[in-house]
Amino acid sequence: MPKKNDAASSSKRKPSSKAIVAEDNHETTETSAVTGRIEEVGKEGAKTEPAAAKKKAPAKKTAAAKKKAPAEKPAAAKEEVPAEKPAAAKEEVPAEKPAAAKEEVPAEKPAAAKEEIPAEKPAAAKKKAPAKKSAAAKEEAPAEKPAAAKEEAPAEKPVTVPEEAPVEGPADAAGTDVPQEAAPAEGHDTSPRRSVAFIGSECYPFVKTGGLGDVMYALPKALVKQNCDVKVILPRYRCIPWEYQQKMIYRGSFQMDLCADGKSFYVGIMEYVWDGVVYDFIDNEEFFGGGDPYTNLIDDIPKYCYFAKAALAALNYMDWIPDIIHCHDWQAALVPVYLRTQFVDTKLTTAKTVMTIHNLRFQGVYNIPTIRYWSGLPDYVFNMGALTVKYRDANMLKGGLTYANIITTVSPSYAGEIQSDYYGETLDAHLRYHSGKLRGIVNGIDYDIWDPDTDSRLYENYNIANVLERKKENKRRLQEELGLVQDEHKFVIGLISRLTNQKGLDLVTSILPQVLDGNTQVVVLGTGDRGYEDTFRYYEQAYKGYVCSNIMYDETRAHRIYAGADALLVPSRFEPCGLTQLIAMHYGTVPIVRETGGLKDTVEPYNRFFNTGNGFTFDRYEPGLLLDAINRAKTFYFENRWCWDEMVQRDMDKNLSWENSARQYKELYLELTR
Ligand code: ADP
Repeated sequence: MPKKNDAASSSKRKPSSKAIVAEDNHETTETSAVTGRIEEVGKEGAKTEPAAAKKKAPAKKTAAAKKKAPAEKPAAAKEEVPAEKPAAAKEEVPAEKPAAAKEEVPAEKPAAAKEEIPAEKPAAAKKKAPAKKSAAAKEEAPAEKPAAAKEEAPAEKPVTVPEEAPVEGPADAAGTDVPQEAAPAEGHDTSPRRSVAFIGSECYPFVKTGGLGDVMYALPKALVKQNCDVKVILPRYRCIPWEYQQKMIYRGSFQMDLCADGKSFYVGIMEYVWDGVVYDFIDNEEFFGGGDPYTNLIDDIPKYCYFAKAALAALNYMDWIPDIIHCHDWQAALVPVYLRTQFVDTKLTTAKTVMTIHNLRFQGVYNIPTIRYWSGLPDYVFNMGALTVKYRDANMLKGGLTYANIITTVSPSYAGEIQSDYYGETLDAHLRYHSGKLRGIVNGIDYDIWDPDTDSRLYENYNIANVLERKKENKRRLQEELGLVQDEHKFVIGLISRLTNQKGLDLVTSILPQVLDGNTQVVVLGTGDRGYEDTFRYYEQAYKGYVCSNIMYDETRAHRIYAGADALLVPSRFEPCGLTQLIAMHYGTVPIVRETGGLKDTVEPYNRFFNTGNGFTFDRYEPGLLLDAINRAKTFYFENRWCWDEMVQRDMDKNLSWENSARQYKELYLELTR
């Protein structure tokens, strides 16, 4: 991470203090990954090894490499909240090639070049992986290392066992570090068991910035019910609330080589078990000790190179060999690449990989020398068929798409759209090339969190039977809390969104005065681009009592808006799936959406002849069409309330749970491991 990048420090391991203690007590858990091949080294992996490895990293080289990358990019790179759009990123490329870059002889397997076409893999290898293997592996794994890890845990600090999830949690906090088999499907599923490692950069409730966080939480849980054994691997960000941090159990640690010059980094594994899902947090203060999960590409590129490799190394270390490794978005996209290059000789190689695109806009693009340096990946992956784009940049997502066995995205429509120039974010040709392994599976919502009948954040709970009455009370209380004119007859439109260009907010801001007719109120909740934030603030001032702009991230307020609004606006320019319209429907709030991606797949437009449908839609990205859709909804609300109410109940009745989606993922896993 450039900012802390003095060579000395980066070549040193930077465990959190807790982990240091444990590690120091147990040399035996040190796993040396000198060449990036992390066999089950560890056991006698001497302490000396890391030291040696460290030395390897020529101090200045690193420093140089780091500095270089950042040096000129910053200007361009800065606006990327999480990551950029390749288009933008590419200009940043400083033509220079870091001195460091040149000597990074890939050290790797020569023959490996062939795997570039990842799709296939030794047919033989595949077969053996499956079900029993993982199950078996699980039990054995612990036997060796864990044994060590076990004793370490207590050494550090009294570990508290997760209270909410005691049942399947590590039975003994200090001891059985083995992720126990998740409870077998509760009568739900009799299909063969599969083990799945989810790798991604955020997960509710630990850290969430958007829909990815919801999916990383809800899908594993739903998969447990589909007879899957799921482990979720996440970065251990400092911003994870203490209530979770304190319940994590130390699982072990080791040193891992990362960069092209073999620099070695600490990898700690902290575990937390909840609801049948095992969460393993990759601990490294240098990479994850900052505030937010995403900062800027200059920091994020090294961070997620490290994370991708450390996630695999951690699986290896724990000897937990899953049938499937399911990677999410660009932050985990190097996982399939590492798996088919530097980990090809490890047990993990039997695993199949699924790469899910939650949002194609974010791809992790930077100049080749920087990514080559930090990832330590062999030269041959930097070709136009894999990581390289525009001949000078490396695109981490593209690498993942290339090497994954299957690509999924979060709705069938988006799966089609991203193969077109308009939605393809410059990867459309690549996706068309790989279209044979591209699928779309729509997201669901977690009914444990999103259920108006039990949601403790609501003013008043309701269900399909009493929604018409109780929703009014939620509306009135919402108006009261937000300082809006309190009148149950007003038509309240909610908008809960990141305030970015993707979300169609330029359409909204351009027609807002026409929407505000005295009978309509608009409640905005979101953060993002300063321009949108200010515009909504302005409208709040200009239309006091009728517009409320909550420029913040607030879960409770979100729940209350879903419950109190009559309609929810989602006019996105593109929308891979979209969760807000799903939540809205489940809360009896009628969605007004643009027909794109998952919005198109989940919201059936109202048909006044048959009185069917779930919401109001428009197709082309034009303000006039959005206004028209809003006006149709309003007219319907004010002039045909009986039918409106029917729609509200129809929406609440719609099955939006994760069950269907999880079943489709399970089928995909079975197909891959058959
Ligand atoms: P994206 O992932 O593109 O941001 P999604 O619709 O897939 O959009 O998911 C957005 C999720 O984030 C939803 O759960 C929504 O309720 C939540 N959310 C978005 N903005 C806020 C906010 N300001 N406060 C609370 N929750 C928010």
